[in-house]
Amino acid sequence: MMGPSHALSGAAVWLTGSLALEHFADYEQSTLALAVGTAVCAGGALFPDLDLSGKVTRNQGGATVARTFGVFSLFVAEVIEKVSLGVYYATKLSRDPKRNNGHRTLTHTIPFTVLVGWGTTALCTAYGKWAVVGILFFMIGLALRGLFDRWAERAGWVIVTLTSAAGAWYTFANLPGDRGYPMIGLAMGVGCFVHIIGDMVTKAGVPILWPIPIKRRMWTPIGLPNSIALRAGGKTEIVVVRSVLTVVSVLAAIGLVAPSVLERFTTDV
Ligand SMILES: [Zn+2]
Repeated sequence: MMGPSHALSGAAVWLTGSLALEHFADYEQSTLALAVGTAVCAGGALFPDLDLSGKVTRNQGGATVARTFGVFSLFVAEVIEKVSLGVYYATKLSRDPKRNNGHRTLTHTIPFTVLVGWGTTALCTAYGKWAVVGILFFMIGLALRGLFDRWAERAGWVIVTLTSAAGAWYTFANLPGDRGYPMIGLAMGVGCFVHIIGDMVTKAGVPILWPIPIKRRMWTPIGLPNSIALRAGGKTEIVVVRSVLTVVSVLAAIGLVAPSVLERFTTDV
């Protein structure tokens, strides 16, 4: 799957999940909390691909997400890719093939998803609003890069960085303080998980069962069989999948925000 589809599926899952929570569990979120969760989940749905580094020194290559904050995120991607490759070799069994990069390994596993969700929650609990702002800055950047890829490409990474900073600042000024923010950790974890599922429906598959060994392989790629798998970047993905995800996101967002807008309108009149 390509960046925009990943980010869109993160947003769609978070919005429909929030709508379901509101309907079935009476769990209501403020519009700001919803926007924050959606941005974090959309950004989180791109996070696993930060394991695709380019040539940092020449400022080339890498997944689109790795270019979000220019050379800085390319460097982070380089580190994540090398760490992933290290974990691959440290845990590989005799039938796992040799690799020369860590793409689609560690960051595409369930333990990583759980670790990211837990780590984010721990950060938010320890540092409160400050952690939220840092995470949000990072995630808004990824979400912008994913959701508005053409704009981000044209605007360049400096504008993307400034926009993320503005979004994070606005949230800092308006978010209630003195509390934990468990939904942010959840949004990160769900985002990463949605990414893995997205990769599974495209051809190459992901080592989702790691670290469970199967037939002397630890990193077995699991995905749809080639005959029914979507081609990454193919017409079906770009036209059908993205349209459906957009419609679902918009409908869920309307379902979430409309009641409170209507209520305000009727009490004003
Ligand atoms: Zn991926």
